Amino acid sequence: MSCKIGFIGLGIMGKPMSRNLLKAGHQLVVYDVVAAAVDEIAAAGAARGASSADVAARSDVLITMLPDGPDVEQAVLGPAGVLEGARPGAILIDMSSISPMVSQKVAAECAARGVEFLDAPVSGGEPKAVDGTLAIMVGGKQEVFDKAKDILAAMGSSVTLTGPVGAGNVTKLANQIIVACNIAAMGEALVLATKAGLDPEVVFNAIKGGLAGSTVLNAKAPMVISRNFKPGFRIRLHQKDLRNALLAGESLKVPLPITSLVQQMIITLMNEGKGDLDHSGIVNFLEAMAGIEVQKPAGASA
Ligand code: NAD
Repeated sequence: MSCKIGFIGLGIMGKPMSRNLLKAGHQLVVYDVVAAAVDEIAAAGAARGASSADVAARSDVLITMLPDGPDVEQAVLGPAGVLEGARPGAILIDMSSISPMVSQKVAAECAARGVEFLDAPVSGGEPKAVDGTLAIMVGGKQEVFDKAKDILAAMGSSVTLTGPVGAGNVTKLANQIIVACNIAAMGEALVLATKAGLDPEVVFNAIKGGLAGSTVLNAKAPMVISRNFKPGFRIRLHQKDLRNALLAGESLKVPLPITSLVQQMIITLMNEGKGDLDHSGIVNFLEAMAGIEVQKPAGASA
C-alpha cells in the first residue's frame, strides 16, 4: 500500500529510514529543525514541510525520529506541533527511543484528538537503518499495528508488536540494558587480559565462539582493540536510555543495580568530554581505573 507519510527528525537514523520509505514507493513530506537535513531528503524525492503541524496536515501517517522524550513532546504537543495539523484518523508512529511513560502521555493527547499512536523504537544503528534491516519493537493496539506494519517493514527486517502503548519502549530499554552491561563486562575482561600480558585480540578470538560470545562482543571488541571509538551509537544517547530505564525501574519498583553502576561509569565519561564517542568507549572508564589501555602488545602481529 502506498500512503502519504510525514517524517519528522532527519538525523543519523531518520535520513536513511526516510530514504528507504521513498525507495518503497511512498510519498513523503519531511521536516527537521535543521534545514540542511530537509534539503538532503528533498533532493532524494521528498516534499518539504514547513513545520511539524504542516507535515501532519499533509499526511495520513506520521513518523517521528527524535532524540528524547522532551523533543517528542515539543514536536507533537508543542506550538506548530503534529497535533495542531493532524487529521482525525491519522496514525502517529514515534520511532524515537524515549521513556515509556512519555509514550503513554503523548498517546493520551493523541487519542483526545482522534489520532492513533504507536511507539516503535528501533535497534540496529545506522548501518541497519541504511540497509532497511532494523529490529522494530512496537507498542499499541493490534488493529493500528496491522495498518502500519507494511510501512515499518520498509525500514526493518523484524517488526514485532510487544504489547500496548509503551511496550515498544520497555522492550527497547531491555535491549539497551543488555547492550550497556555487556560492553562494561567486556571492558573488565579485556582490561584484565591485557594487564596479564595477553594479546586482547587472541583472547577475543579464543572466546567468541563459546558461551561468552555475543553480537555485542563481535561488534565492539574489534573497535576497542583497534582504538576506534567513532560513533556508531554515542555514549550520551546510551546515557539517556539508561536514565529512562532507571526511571521506569523506579516507577515499577524494580531495582536495576547493574544498570545503575554502568550509568555511573557513563556519567563520569561524559564529564571527561567523551559523550560523543561510540558507546564501546565505556571501556575507557575501566581502562582508567586499571591504568592500562586495551591494545595489542608491542610487536604482536596486527
Ligand atoms: P540525531 O540527533 O542524529 O537526530 C535527531 C534529529 O531530530 C536531528 O536532525 C534534529 O535536528 C531533529 N530534531 C530535534 N528536535 C526536533 C524538533 N522539535 N522538530 C524537528 N526535528 C527535530 O539522533 P539519531 O541518532 O538519529 O537518533 C534518533 C533516535 O533513535 C534517538 O532516540 C536514539 O536513541 C534512537 N536510536 C539511535 C541509534 C543510532 O545508532 N544512532 C540506534 C537506535 C536508536
